[in-house]
Amino acid sequence: MDALELRKLKSMIEHRMEQLQGEIAEAKSFTSKKLEQDDDPSADLDLTISSSVDEKVLADHKSELKRLSRNLLWLDSDDAGLCRVCDCEIPVNRLLAVPDTQVCISCAD
Ligand SMILES: [Zn+2]
Repeated sequence: MDALELRKLKSMIEHRMEQLQGEIAEAKSFTSKKLEQDDDPSADLDLTISSSVDEKVLADHKSELKRLSRNLLWLDSDDAGLCRVCDCEIPVNRLLAVPDTQVCISCAD
């Protein structure tokens, strides 16, 4: 991976992190707005369903965000772009496609 590819990858990760942070903030405000609804039984049912979905999405977003910020640090380290399992160099196209991974395709299987 050359300097240009590294820069491209890092800016992609930063962009994705901003997007996730925005979605997390939105999901949170959506959930708290829902909680303020009155006691219409059908609204409660909607709330139960959608809040469990929101929580799942929120948890997924948060763990992706954690992996992305970990990878930003990783890309600045001496092990940047090296598979954590077999130590081979991960092709930059794989990192661009799956920016939150630290393993090559063969090790991911
Ligand atoms: Zn590997």
